Amino acid sequence: MARRESRAVRRDRLSAILDRLAAAYPDARVGLDFTTPFELLIATILSAQCTDERVNIVTKSLFAKYRSPDDYLRVPLEELEQDIHSTGFYRNKAKNIQACCKRLIDVFHGEVPVTLEELITLPGVGRKTANCVLSNCFDIPGITVDTHVTRIMNLLGMVNTTDAVAIEFELMKIVDTERWNAMNHLIITHGRRTCIARRPQCGTCPIADLCPSAQ
Ligand code: SF4
Repeated sequence: MARRESRAVRRDRLSAILDRLAAAYPDARVGLDFTTPFELLIATILSAQCTDERVNIVTKSLFAKYRSPDDYLRVPLEELEQDIHSTGFYRNKAKNIQACCKRLIDVFHGEVPVTLEELITLPGVGRKTANCVLSNCFDIPGITVDTHVTRIMNLLGMVNTTDAVAIEFELMKIVDTERWNAMNHLIITHGRRTCIARRPQCGTCPIADLCPSAQ
């Protein structure tokens, strides 16, 4: 196996990669539809093991029916399960959403908190969801490590692990803070359009010459 590049070398290579991806995907943005931090919080909980497209279909009617944390607690659990059924894992998600809303009301006056430490105390909310809300709603730098970021950062040789927290902390060391939020969208967009799982389009990839996994 080739010797691991130093952090300084990986930092420069990733910076060049992000420049290329920014030019290739000028329209890269968050894939979930939302109008408030609370809506993005719910949408992100629903997005676990589900496509953004499916979540957006479900939240269109969900957000019309449920506007506040109180609204999610007013219905029986079974009704909420039915309303989010097609996003998968609906029992767990419905339970988490109600517990999350209860804590928002009990501890945070019904508002979405704006620190990672507080957000991850909410049921159903891990670092990925917390960073997603912080970066997209409050413009607070945060790296969201989803399946695309995990796969692509390994293919690019930036990390050598599938542990999401380890990836997040390594990327924090090799990417300038002001690029974190844009990087989330660029890598996820690259994963959807070009570096697709199990069928990467290396022949048309804009960063093929910078990728050790190019075929
Ligand atoms: S060259 Fe291939 S493996 Fe590397 S990032 Fe591009 S599509 Fe993915």
